[in-house]
Amino acid sequence: MKIVDCCLEKTSFTDKDLIRDATKKVIFVGRSNVGKSSLINKLAGRKRLARTSSTPGKTVSVNYYRVHFVDNDNNVKDSFYFVDLPGYGYAKISRQESQRVKTVLSAFFRTVDHAQLAVMLIDSRRGFMEADLEILSQILDKKINILTVLTKSDKLPFLKLADRVKALQNEFGLKVVSFTIKSDESKEELLNLIKKALME
Ligand code: GDP
Repeated sequence: MKIVDCCLEKTSFTDKDLIRDATKKVIFVGRSNVGKSSLINKLAGRKRLARTSSTPGKTVSVNYYRVHFVDNDNNVKDSFYFVDLPGYGYAKISRQESQRVKTVLSAFFRTVDHAQLAVMLIDSRRGFMEADLEILSQILDKKINILTVLTKSDKLPFLKLADRVKALQNEFGLKVVSFTIKSDESKEELLNLIKKALME
C-alpha cells in the first residue's frame, strides 16, 4: 500500500463534534510526547502534517486525516481516516486539562464506528504504564484490533529492545513493531499491517 494523499479533514474539540460515519478508521493513541505526530507524519510521507512538539499536552482535540492510497499496481483504492487522539498521562498539565483528555478519549471509544485498528504507541524506554492500561481496556471493550508500536527505538540498545518486544508479545499477546523516525525501516511493515486491518 502507498499513501498518495493525506490531509486534515476535521478537528473535533468536543464529543458532539466527533465523526460518526461509516468511513474506516485507523486510530493512533498514546501518552503525550510518545512520538505520535512523528509516526503519522512518517506514514503519510509528510513533514509537518501532524504537529510535533517538544511541549506536550497542548491542545485537546481529535484530528481526522483523510488518507487516499493506491495498491502495489497503482490502482486507486478507497480512502479512510487516520484518527489522531489527544495524548494522555502528561504530568505537567492541570487536573482539569487531564480530566478533559480522559473525557474526550472515553467519549471517542464509546461512540466510534468502523474502527479497523488501534495503533497503540508505547515509548520503548518506558514500556506499558498505568495510563496505557486504562486506555487498552477501553479499546479491548470495543473489540478493536490492536497494533502496538514501540516508539523511539533508536534510544534503546538493540538487545534491550528485542527483549521488550518479546515481553510485550508474550505478556499481552499483542502484535508489536518497533519504530524510529530516524529510519524508514518499519514504515512498510506498518503500512502493510494497516492495509490488512482495512481489508477485514
Ligand atoms: P506526540 O506528542 O506523541 O505527538 O510526540 P511528537 O511526535 O511530537 O514527538 C515528541 C518528541 O519526541 C519530539 O521532540 C520528537 O522529535 C521526538 N521523537 C519522536 N519520535 C522519535 C524517535 O523515533 N526518536 C527520537 N530520538 N526522537 C523522537
